Amino acid sequence: MREIAVASKIAGFLSFLRLGACAWFLAAPVYAGTIVDTHAIADESQGRNWLSVGRSYSENRYSPLDQINDQNIKRLGLAWYLDLPTQGPLQATPLAVDGVLYFSAMLGKVYAVDGRNGGVLWQFDPDLAHHAMNERSVIWNVNRGVAFWKDKVYVGTTDGRLVALDAKSGRVIWSTQTFDEEDRSKTISGAPRVFNGKVIIGNGGESGTRGYVTTYDAETGHKIWRFYTVPGDPSKGFENSAMAMAAGTWHGEWWKGGGNGTVWDSITYDPDFNRVYIATANGTPINANERGSGGGDNLFVASIVALDGNSGEYVWHYQLNPGETWDYDAVAQMVLADVSIAGKPRKILIQAPKNGFFYVIDRANGQLISAEKLGKVTWAERIDLKSGRPIEASGIRDLNKPFMIWPSAFGLHNWQAMSFDPKTGLVYIPKMNLGMSMGPQNMQFKPVDADDGTGSLLAWDPISRQKRWEVELGSSFWNGGVLSSAGNVVFQGTGDGHFSAYSAATGRTLWQFNAGLGIEAAPITYLVNGVQYVSILVAYGGAISLAQFHDYGWRYGEQPRRLLTFALDKNAVLPLGAPPRFTVKAIDDPALVIDQNLAEKGVKAYQRCARCHGIQLQSRSSFARDLRESELASTWEGFKLVVQGGAMSALGMPIFDDLSDEDLRAIFMYIRQGARASR
Ligand code: CA
Repeated sequence: MREIAVASKIAGFLSFLRLGACAWFLAAPVYAGTIVDTHAIADESQGRNWLSVGRSYSENRYSPLDQINDQNIKRLGLAWYLDLPTQGPLQATPLAVDGVLYFSAMLGKVYAVDGRNGGVLWQFDPDLAHHAMNERSVIWNVNRGVAFWKDKVYVGTTDGRLVALDAKSGRVIWSTQTFDEEDRSKTISGAPRVFNGKVIIGNGGESGTRGYVTTYDAETGHKIWRFYTVPGDPSKGFENSAMAMAAGTWHGEWWKGGGNGTVWDSITYDPDFNRVYIATANGTPINANERGSGGGDNLFVASIVALDGNSGEYVWHYQLNPGETWDYDAVAQMVLADVSIAGKPRKILIQAPKNGFFYVIDRANGQLISAEKLGKVTWAERIDLKSGRPIEASGIRDLNKPFMIWPSAFGLHNWQAMSFDPKTGLVYIPKMNLGMSMGPQNMQFKPVDADDGTGSLLAWDPISRQKRWEVELGSSFWNGGVLSSAGNVVFQGTGDGHFSAYSAATGRTLWQFNAGLGIEAAPITYLVNGVQYVSILVAYGGAISLAQFHDYGWRYGEQPRRLLTFALDKNAVLPLGAPPRFTVKAIDDPALVIDQNLAEKGVKAYQRCARCHGIQLQSRSSFARDLRESELASTWEGFKLVVQGGAMSALGMPIFDDLSDEDLRAIFMYIRQGARASR
């Protein structure tokens, strides 16, 4: 009986979500005409469309539109909003093509929406629940965007498929599995990019796999080339001379651990050189001493690698952290710019990776031009410009002794988009202040300095290598990406639920909107029928669920996930969800006898749940339910049905069918104990 009651509760929840979808209406497409090809995506001067995740190949996220500007921005208001039937994080940057917005949401769902009014044209669901949900329980099921080419939209799904959809109907044209059989712990969260008829996609996972990017024919989905980021088992032979070279920087049997160095976010195509730049994650295990580094650099982890666009052959690399050991992924966005340095025109690549330096690299040859600290950075004294290598602080490689290090593994800057405005010459960076303690008991994130745990929007001059202005965002630490525009306006959403506009020149706050929920995605701007719009996805979650110092009171299911779109002289009213809540509404059955021994065992077993449901049962990011408040976790039958049986897999809850009944019971008891204690 109880099981039936639980099942009907789940079914009710699912039908509620479907109802949300039925309430949408179908609108006619706006107009067509743009042929999205290499020429169109490379064109920096057109502002009507937003054709690639970083707007154009430069990935600078700067728009030449100026209808909305610093003089009239007070007239900016909500044009329309679209509620999305999801409780997950929304990290995607939408594309705008001829008045239609295309974006991905949690679980690799894709939407096409009329940019004038939010009418849903089509939606695509990759049906993750039936694609190995039990093997992809490690990460947050986020998706940072789609790609567009000719008449197709491309999305990478959590389980590794690259799917081409008909842009008009959302129908699947082709779908290909980008992971090898042995890569079961990989996931895709990043956006594909398209150039010269090739779609390129990377992946992530952090659990010991070998990183690579692969290109596919945009028309057919046939594989064209693959580049591995770390060398494999030498006895099987190296794929190319770059892998043989890289193998010289590893020792022991590194391939058994996979090596990692995955490309989970940034890929930038450079039409000037017909090259692809890929940015790689740290190695695994994170501690270089444990992954057979033997003091070697471990190429190409924590690196930027330039590849030939046609063949995928290695051209050059720049490694940010040789022998990386602090989870300083180098995967942050790579922006291309043409600038003048000391009177000479230079083609540069700029990046603000996790490690806290701002790198300016000559993209002709990979030579480091400058590397400056953007805030408190203690892992290195400086980067030697001649060798390109960091002068590391002492004691940061001995993990037998505890030590503090800045920035933390969240990074001084993470995947959230920065924006480079060629008019002001400034880069606008979502910055985070935080250190971490490392040593025998792993990484811990506890504020030490007065400004630890705070965030800011930093305007940085990459050529003079200095700060122009900085907007302090206080305890809003984990914030959204940035858009800059010719209207002298910079837009950013924040974790505490505001969407703001600042003067690009001075950082003065020009405009603010209460979004009712934290923001981590980046805004875009586009033009339809002569009207400039600004759009942003609003939802909060992901990696920030691992931070214990921070809580804005966003709670699972209490604040709607949305796409908000603004224009001048519009005044739609946004019905806000529940206000931030800091109390726990724990559910407890007083008749249930808590087995203290089992609950104690559950502490360890629960670690697998903590990534999403929060450390020590405290869910602070609203991305997954606080299990102390979950009805389904309040009975053993319901809990088992969801965790082992996968009853909520359609909502993104993975299936943990490898969990033993004993471990499952231990976790259950730990939750019940925690729920009772918090009442
Ligand atoms: Ca990492």
